[in-house]
Amino acid sequence: MGENREIPYKIYLEEHEMPTQWYNVRADMKNKPAPLLNPGTGQPMTLEELSGVFCTELAKQELDDTTAYFDIPDEILQFYKMYRPAPLVRAYHLERALGTPAKIYYKFEGNNTSGSHKLNSAIAQAYYAKNQGLKGVTTETGAGQWGTALSMACAFLGLDCQVYMVKVSYEQKPFRREVMRTYGASVTPSPSDKTEVGRKILAEFPDTNGSLGCAISEAVEAATTQEGYRYVLGSVLAQVLLHQSVIGLETKAAMDKYDVTPDIIIGCAGGGSNLGGLISPFMGEKLRGEKDYRFIAVEPASCPSFTRGKYAYDFCDTGAICPLAKMYTMGSSFMPSPNHAGGLRYHGMSSVLSQLYDDGLMEATSVEQTAVFEAAQQFARVEGILPAPESSHAIRVAIDEAMKCKETGEDKTILFGLTGTGYFDMYAYEKFNDGKMSDYIPTDEDIAASLAKLPSVN
Ligand SMILES: *Cc1c(COP(=O)(O)O)cnc(C)c1O
Repeated sequence: MGENREIPYKIYLEEHEMPTQWYNVRADMKNKPAPLLNPGTGQPMTLEELSGVFCTELAKQELDDTTAYFDIPDEILQFYKMYRPAPLVRAYHLERALGTPAKIYYKFEGNNTSGSHKLNSAIAQAYYAKNQGLKGVTTETGAGQWGTALSMACAFLGLDCQVYMVKVSYEQKPFRREVMRTYGASVTPSPSDKTEVGRKILAEFPDTNGSLGCAISEAVEAATTQEGYRYVLGSVLAQVLLHQSVIGLETKAAMDKYDVTPDIIIGCAGGGSNLGGLISPFMGEKLRGEKDYRFIAVEPASCPSFTRGKYAYDFCDTGAICPLAKMYTMGSSFMPSPNHAGGLRYHGMSSVLSQLYDDGLMEATSVEQTAVFEAAQQFARVEGILPAPESSHAIRVAIDEAMKCKETGEDKTILFGLTGTGYFDMYAYEKFNDGKMSDYIPTDEDIAASLAKLPSVN
């Protein structure tokens, strides 16, 4: 048993071994994440106020930083069973190609049509909306993964789904749009003239490619101006991290089966939901003083919230209508350069991860996109899976850590989150294959200019 047992290429859990509860890492944090603030009053958002934007059950989850476990409703569990448990893969081929003594594992979340982990929270959010008797939900999508996931969840439950898609992605990824429409969603390029805030942004920046922050503003306005609609968000929020904890719980259960303990856990970080979900149960052990791990958040050099941003209250959206969150941020007016990892272009970061990072419980690093695509290509050629550009940020750092082990001869166990597949990112791969990809990095002045516009509550 244990150490001597041979590890298979893929560790699958049985259906009956799947987690039946989500884990809320905030319950074990001594320093709780700072509360969301009402942008009008500067006071913490109450349940009543939050319930105007989110479904009541989700608003409750958002505010709850003491309950450690939440039962996963049966209907959600049944939906999960269509594409979960997700495999935990031992990257034997990659290890061999690198010639590293490190043992590399990845949790693969791309095994569903939406192609990413986002479906884990989409079904939860759609479920609570349906349960509350709502007609539909509105949302934004950047690269398109979240919009696709939400449209799948809404189709399953019979809810209307209205998606505001960042304009540059809408144009670059027409097939994503068609997948969403196939699942019954309506898709609008953002900024649009459908909303007041969209018209305002268009007047100020007529040539804008759009941004996630801007699409969020439009989706929130659409939700609050239509009867029976609520807004749902695919990342950043504490409720999303809670739902995504299913990733980490499954991973830990699979590793425990073979007595494997990771030394380093790596994830890409856009708004922080996959990373937060992957590390949650491990971080819980660290917070309770039971075990120690190294956690590494990987962000794009073009949108480096952790590594070059500021820990401060900021708007979650460009239009400044959402609650204020305390987070590592580039400033809500920051317009990231058109990099190819659309899902990592958000200006802020989960408040939960921001607090953990500020407390020195996790690390962060940023990587440039050509280096990311080199890692993606190397990975695809030996492990077979065509990774999403977002996920490839984690691959980059996992390979770098494995190569350090090669130098030192250490056989560390490295775990990373492979959040999704890259079939809709062929435009980016084309740029890379043609040698035409560039690395956009904001200057200190760019960042300072956007941070100068942080709200005055700080
Ligand atoms: C959205 C997305 C991400 C980043 O979002 P997080 O909330 O930081 O997890 C990463 N990978 C893929 C494939 C995505 O779709």
